[in-house]
Amino acid sequence: MNDSLTLPGQDWPQLQPGWVWLCGAGPGDPGLLTLHAVNALRQADVVIYDALVQEAILDWAPQAVHEYAGKRGGKPSAKQRDISLRLVDLARQGKKVLRLKGGDPFVFGRGGEEAQTLVQHGVPIRIIPGISAGIGGLAYAGIPVTHRDVNQSVTFVTGHDQSGNATGSLDWPAIARGSQVIVIYMGMKHIARITSELVAAGRPSSEPVAIVTTATTAEQRVLETTLGTCVEDVAMAGLEPPAIICVGRSVLMRQVLDWQGMAAGEAPRDVDPLGRGRPAESA
Ligand code: SAH
Repeated sequence: MNDSLTLPGQDWPQLQPGWVWLCGAGPGDPGLLTLHAVNALRQADVVIYDALVQEAILDWAPQAVHEYAGKRGGKPSAKQRDISLRLVDLARQGKKVLRLKGGDPFVFGRGGEEAQTLVQHGVPIRIIPGISAGIGGLAYAGIPVTHRDVNQSVTFVTGHDQSGNATGSLDWPAIARGSQVIVIYMGMKHIARITSELVAAGRPSSEPVAIVTTATTAEQRVLETTLGTCVEDVAMAGLEPPAIICVGRSVLMRQVLDWQGMAAGEAPRDVDPLGRGRPAESA
C-alpha cells in the first residue's frame, strides 16, 4: 500500500471481514471521492462497482478484486436482487466488501434497497455518502443548483422508472409549478416527453436548460439550450447519457461561472445573466 496515501488525523474506521460498506464514488472525477471512500477503497478485499464508476477510481483499490455489477456488452443488467444477494454471499464468506456506486448511493441509486437486503440478512453495513451528479456535476458546469436570485427550492426527479418507462407517476404540473429549478436524472430517453410536459404545465419554452454529460470527467460536455429547442439541440449535438438535465434560470449563471473555461489573466466577466445587478458585497 502506498504510504503517501495514509490518511492522517483520526482513527479511520476499519472495514472488517463480513461487512459491506455501501459507498458513493461521486460523479466521476476521482478528486470528488470522500476520504471515507478512499479509506474504504484501500481496505476492501472485493469492490463491486457499477457502470458509472470510473476506472481511475478502481485504481485506488489495487489490492482488491474488482467485480462489475451492471450492464456491459449488450448483456442484460444484473438483476438488483442478484447484486444484493451477491453482496450477502461475499460478506458471509468473510470478505471485506465495498459496494461502490456512482454519485451518492442513496440518490436514484438503489442503495436503499441493497442496504435493506443486507440488513435483513444480518450483514452489518456502513453507508458512505457521495457527491451526487445532480449537484456536483452541475457545479462542474458552472451551474449553482441553488442561487439566491433564482430559487428557494430544487426538485430532483428521475426521468424513468425501474422498467425504463417514462415516469407516469410524476405530477409534472405540480413540479412545474412548485420548483423554480428542476434537476432530472436519467432523463435522456424521455427528454421529448419531459420537456413537453413542462411546457404544457406552463413553463415558458424559452426557459434555459443545461445538459451535462459525463460530468466531471475529461469527456464532460455541456449543452445550453431551452425547453423549446432542447430535443433538436440534443440530437444535433449527438449527446449521449449519462446526463444531468437542469431546467431553470440558474443555468444562466454559467455565463459567469463556467470556471472550466477560464484562463489565467482573462478579462473580468462583466456579465449580469439574471439582470439583477451585481451581488451586494455585504449581503
Ligand atoms: N447515484 C447517482 C445517480 C444514479 S442514477 C448519483 O447520485 O449521481 C444514474 C443517472 O445519474 C444517470 O443516468 C445520469 O442522469 C446521472 N449521472 C450519474 N453520473 C453522471 C455524470 N458523471 N454525468 C452526468 N450524469 C450523471
